[in-house]
Amino acid sequence: MTVGSGAEALDPAVRSAFPFERVRPGQDAFLADAARAIREGKHLLAHAPTGTGKTAVALTAAVEFARREGKLVLFLTSKHSQHWIAVETLRRMRARGLGVVGVDVIAKQGMCLNDRAPSGGLAFREFCEHHVRSRTCGWFSRPADAAAKLAVQKVLHVRELVEAARACGTCPHKAALEAARKAHVLVCDYNYVFSDIRERVLPRIERQLGDIVLVVDEAHNLPDRIRSHLTGDLDAPMLIRAGKEAKPVDPQAGAQLHEVARSVHKALQAVEGERVVGRESLLDAVEKGLRGIGYGDLLQMVIEAGETLAGRGLPTILPDVAEFLRWWRDIKEGVLRLVVGGADGKFSLRLLDPAVLSASVFRDVHASLLMSGTLHPPAMYADLLGIEPARRVLRAYPNPFPKENRRVVVDPSVTTSYDRRTPAMYARIAEELVAVAGAVPGNVAAFFPSYELLKEVLQRVRTLPIGKQLVVESQKWGAAERARALETLRALRLGGGGLLLGVQGGSLSEGVDYAGNLLAAAVIVGLPLSPPNLEVEALKAYYMRKFGAERGYDYAYVYPAVNKVLQAAGRCIRSERDRAAIVVMEARVLQPRYAKCFPQDFPLEPVADVASEVRTFFYGPVASARPCS
Ligand code: SF4
Repeated sequence: MTVGSGAEALDPAVRSAFPFERVRPGQDAFLADAARAIREGKHLLAHAPTGTGKTAVALTAAVEFARREGKLVLFLTSKHSQHWIAVETLRRMRARGLGVVGVDVIAKQGMCLNDRAPSGGLAFREFCEHHVRSRTCGWFSRPADAAAKLAVQKVLHVRELVEAARACGTCPHKAALEAARKAHVLVCDYNYVFSDIRERVLPRIERQLGDIVLVVDEAHNLPDRIRSHLTGDLDAPMLIRAGKEAKPVDPQAGAQLHEVARSVHKALQAVEGERVVGRESLLDAVEKGLRGIGYGDLLQMVIEAGETLAGRGLPTILPDVAEFLRWWRDIKEGVLRLVVGGADGKFSLRLLDPAVLSASVFRDVHASLLMSGTLHPPAMYADLLGIEPARRVLRAYPNPFPKENRRVVVDPSVTTSYDRRTPAMYARIAEELVAVAGAVPGNVAAFFPSYELLKEVLQRVRTLPIGKQLVVESQKWGAAERARALETLRALRLGGGGLLLGVQGGSLSEGVDYAGNLLAAAVIVGLPLSPPNLEVEALKAYYMRKFGAERGYDYAYVYPAVNKVLQAAGRCIRSERDRAAIVVMEARVLQPRYAKCFPQDFPLEPVADVASEVRTFFYGPVASARPCS
């Protein structure tokens, strides 16, 4: 892997597409690498820290090539909130005179104007397909040309596109796909490429994978997102409900499902605890319940009954049951099949290997840019996604912010290792945390490996003189509560600051922008290694077989934890003016087996008195009443 590049002079055509006055030092290397990778049909995997201007760089390189060569850029995001920055960047490009056409879409269900549509994902799909086929959706029946024309003339955010389509009386998704035929860029969710949606959408916009330049934003999320797409459970109550739903439209399907539910229930009762099973376990249980038909016949009946119900706009579980039965039968490689026995037993399917779905996509697209502030190490993501070695370009770009604005220290006196989780250790963590919080002039966020550990430490923190108002994340929080927590921190910053307690890998430690130096310090408590369970062990074993013992272990077990630490640590410094301390309270990160998995730009320096070190960072070597400016 290369750190940066910058060797190649920037093509004037690429530079002229850039949406800002100047290409900053550091961005030029990334931009040159991106333009070259696309030109040569390669896949650039870029670990590019916050502040690199990733969206502007990636869209500039991709749009310039797409306009010249007649390709389509698919800008893939993992969250709706990431669409705005792509839309704004495309608008800037247009404002600077570049004739780029960009269309923004989300899942069809999120754009639907038909108030009879059911809310379930697969049931919605059946409903929509039925009404399109039978020409009974009024929105779809009306032409979408006018709304599509608007979307081509201006870069509309998806919310604006939905309102434009509503005003024209047409289906917003139909309008978006019509506009996409003329677009250079389609901003959409990962699922548009890494699920069966791709097979429906690409023909409608008259494109093939070979026409596509992929840009994957926050690409560290991609392997897990692909895995979660092929993950599901099936239990007897689901089959009973499916039988009841199917009965009015297909009595035979209803009766067969009822018998299958009994047979599956019996099979689950015979199992103790949780264990890994083979494909035949569920196939046998289903077939024992069937009366005169086979597994494939049942599957077809369930699909058809589901289509009928969804077509009537009725909520139904049948499409989910059909999908699970099909996946269980058809996917033979890279999946884990589990059974949990007993009264609440279930069969579970987990995709272990994202390459099962992604390798063929990366083989067939023209080129791609995968980028994230924590795409570390890029080679691991290339391996996990099944990207051919000959087409990989691996890069780690330097942090563009002043080094002196960030101090990273490790507290070697604590650990959250399972064998050392004792009341004394929780008390020690609480004391260290309160001492650090007292040394920081502003808000502090502490991120724990789990809510259980957070609770243990919180109990002890409450007994100590904190000097900051506590803001404690709950597992039940949604977007509104998170927004309120940020508001509280903004208000507290004007006084002595607050102490936010949350979890690593949670919604406050990833994907949240604490803009304006809202956090003066982040404390990362522990290393969030997955607790041992069958799924984690199966993933380790699978990767160790596929990538060798050491690499496989690190890919399955160590890097996911390191990524959560880096994500949480990255919340503090969002601009070149921000200044923050990062404290890693975990002795294990100093052990070579874990230390080697951190990037070079995240120095792990053990410090005996962490609170003093943090105080010195903010107030200078001799403590004074005011922080350094
Ligand atoms: S075709 Fe009709 S049901 Fe389907 S998304 Fe459009 S408005 Fe909704």
